[in-house]
Parts: sequence; structure tokens; C-alpha cells
Amino acid sequence: MNRTRLGALIFLVISAALALAGPEGFTQESLPLFQAGKIRVLIFSGRNNHDWRTTTPFLKKVLVDSGRFDVRVEEEPVGVTEATLAAYEVLVLDYDGPRWGDATEKAVENFVKQGKGLIAIHAANYAFTGLEVLGDHHRPTGIRQPPWPEYLKMIGGWWTEGPPKTAHAPRHCFTVKFVDREHPVTRGLEDSFRVSDELYHSPRMSPDAHVLATAFDDPANGGTGKDEPIIWTVNYGKGRVLYTALGHDVAAMQESGFVSTFARATEWAASGTVTLSPAGILPTPVRPPLRLLVVTGGHEYPTTFYTVFEGAEDLRWEHAVSNHEAFKNDLRKNYDVLVLYDFSQEITETEKANLRSFVEAGKGVVVLHHAIADYQDWEWWYKEVVGGKYLLKPEGSTPASTYLHDQELCIRPTLNHPITARIGTMHFRDETYKGMWISPDARVLLRTDNPTSDGPLAWISPYAKSRVVYIELGHGEAAHLYPAYRDLVQDAIRWTAGRLSEERKQR
Ligand SMILES: [Zn+2]
Ligand SMILES: [Zn+2]
Repeated sequence: MNRTRLGALIFLVISAALALAGPEGFTQESLPLFQAGKIRVLIFSGRNNHDWRTTTPFLKKVLVDSGRFDVRVEEEPVGVTEATLAAYEVLVLDYDGPRWGDATEKAVENFVKQGKGLIAIHAANYAFTGLEVLGDHHRPTGIRQPPWPEYLKMIGGWWTEGPPKTAHAPRHCFTVKFVDREHPVTRGLEDSFRVSDELYHSPRMSPDAHVLATAFDDPANGGTGKDEPIIWTVNYGKGRVLYTALGHDVAAMQESGFVSTFARATEWAASGTVTLSPAGILPTPVRPPLRLLVVTGGHEYPTTFYTVFEGAEDLRWEHAVSNHEAFKNDLRKNYDVLVLYDFSQEITETEKANLRSFVEAGKGVVVLHHAIADYQDWEWWYKEVVGGKYLLKPEGSTPASTYLHDQELCIRPTLNHPITARIGTMHFRDETYKGMWISPDARVLLRTDNPTSDGPLAWISPYAKSRVVYIELGHGEAAHLYPAYRDLVQDAIRWTAGRLSEERKQR
């Protein structure tokens, strides 16, 4: 083969590869940047007389939390092309602003026409109507643009100067009633729900709109005295469109009726069917949250400690402010994991028995920071259960352990273990301990080279009857507020309770 022919062949192969990767070739498999099996949603935002800076993240969170969607946000829709949209199955409009220009508008029309979905929220049916374009917080702009007729066809009902003029009475509480309960979005839902929101009245409705829900606009509140359309659908080409007048702000969007109808509608618009529950989430069996007893007392600590458990919906914690309060009763029925952040020496025989029976029952134990100095004279506790001890005073020829505050620490995982799978090398300032007794059978999870430390900063105790983890880190705010520290503590808790799969290993 001569060089020209080889060149031509290479050219052909590359061209074929590029063609496969082009917009028309998008498939779930060819898009590793999306989560497999999830509906791909693009939210248009970035201009609104409403507070899109808070509402758009909320809409995204509702969809992501449902378990059904992978969501991206476009805060500058102007310039979006068909290639941008090709990867998505449904567009959500949290947008009320100027027009997008021919290319983008045509791309959106074709997107829906070809069988994809469109969801328009609240003020999105004020946009593109020919009314004055409003700035942030309803500030007048004096700008008027010609309406976008295809958009109005698509959304099926919009703001007009009338008569009658579209408007809303002051925000108040009202009831939204479903008038079609056989539609996939509404099937199986209660027949009505209550909201605090703006009740839009007198939109100009297209005969193509199919109303799913209405609300009575009470004249006593300045309303029209009519049942106003609130949620409706439109078939545009092969596409499915749903508009909801609800969702003035995040408070209105938090209403369970909004969450449910929005999440279900987005699934329906994308796929034609609804698998989400009435709560707007995938009906997968949810395990009850782990019940933690967090024990403090005997040592001061900053209240940032409490934030360590934030964001973990599978962890519920109660607080005992002393070891006596914690262990006065049998704990086994009420708790799954003990989290010790106390500094205690005195313990009665009854309290000892309760603590011991909890540990021997195979429950989880996470010992944090200064709790490594608990019960200096209870050998079973520090030797067998914790696998380590901070020596408060010299023992025989062994001197007392030492501590140093505010040390710069580079902390690296040393074991391929589920507890440290989510964290890389951490870097923050915290207290170090040195001269501790550490069981030779402890499995060290984290280590630092800082010479003021013994080195190991977290370990799994060799104790056999239950899972026990010690984490030395956590003296102060720098640790408590460090994202990977929170992941570490939360995952240690989950692991001690058997809730963290062994397959979850380091990247
Ligand atoms: Zn509003
Ligand atoms: Zn400390």
C-alpha cells in the first residue's frame, strides 16, 4: 500500500469515527458523562423576574433526589443548538426573559416536535408573549420583543394583556384540585393538595391545552371567582409538554403537591410513563435510618462537631451529655451505633454492664478524638474494644502521652477499605497525640508523617464481636468542617453498622 492510499484509509477511518460521535449518534452507551439508566434533563435558567438563583438549584435537587434523573443546568440558553439538546430527553424552563434567537428557538421547537419533553414552570408562560421583558425581581426593562408564536403553541396557555388581563391576587393558601385523575402524572394521587403560592388567573388558553388541575380563585382574596387552570399538558408534534403555574419561589416549590407533580411530570414528558411514587421519588425500599447515640461530656468541644452528621439522611442521632446518661439503661434496643466523643473515667458497674452488653451484641462503635482516653483503668475496654489508649499519666516505664494543638496534617489512607473509599489525602490543621499505646493488631486506616504524631490517625480495632473504629482526628472546627472528614466519620458509622459494602474500595 502506498502512502497516499494509507493516508486516504486513515482519513476514512477517522471520518467514520467522528461521524459516530456526532450529535445524531448520541446514545446512552456513547455518553459516559451521564448516569446510566437515568433520564437526561436540561434546565434552562439564568433570566427570570423570579429568584432563579435559588429556584433552579431546588428544581435540580427535586429531580436528582427522586433517583430518576441526571440533570444539567444551562444558565445562558442563547446560542444553544440542536447538538446541545441532542443528548437530553426533557427540557425544564425556569426562565422568563428575552428571546433566544432563531437558531436556539428552532432547536427547541424541533426538540419537542421530534418527541422529547418540555416542562414550563410558573413565569415561563410570561416569556416570549410580547409583553414587556422583566428584569430581576420584576424590575421593568422597557424592552418589548415580538412574541414567539410556536412557543405559545407549545405551552398552550400564556400571559396576556387581555381582556381579560392575566394577573394574580396576593399570594395566599389555596387548594389545587385534579380534574383529570387518569393522566399518568395524576393517577394514584390524592384528589387535591394545598399550597401557598400565587394563583395565576385568566391566562389565554389554547384549545390544544388539556387541563389536569384547577384552583378556585376566591374573590374575597381579589380573585376572579372562577376555577382557574393551574396545570395542563399539550401535545406538540410528537412531544409532550406540561405547564404548571405553581412555583413562585423555593417555599412554594417545597410544597409536596409541587414536588410530586413536577417530578412526575418531568418523567412523563421524557418517557410517556410515570414510575415515581406520589411523593415524586422512585419507590425503592428505603432502609430505616441508623440510630446513633452520640456521647459527649468531660471535655469541651466546638459546636461545629454537630455539623459532622449533617446531610446524612440515613443517620439519626440522639445526644447524651455524659457517659452516665448514655449508659444508665440497656442500649441494645434503641441504638445501632455508639459514637463516643466524651472524656470519661468514672463509670458505675451498671453502666459498665450496659456498655459491655451493647458492644458484645455486635453493635457499631465509633470512638472519636479525646474519647481514646476514656476508662484508663478498664483494661477490657481500651485493650480489646478500642485497641488503643492515650496515657493520661505514666504507666511503669511508659511516659504519659502528649498532645499538640494546631498541627498541619497531611493525612493519607493506608488501607484499601470501604471507610476510606470516598476520601483522598486530607489536609487540615488539627491536634496530634504522641506516645499512645496502639494495639499491634489494629488495622491502620489513616496515617500522617507529622513528627508530633504517632503516625496512625484512624484504625479498625481487632475486637471480634462488633465493629469498632477509632478516629483520632476531630479536635476542632478545621476537621469538623472539612468535607472528607465528615465523609470519613459518616462512613465509619455506616461500616460499623454493616451498612457499607465491602466492594466500595478506593479509586
Ligand atoms: Zn411569581
Ligand atoms: Zn482535643
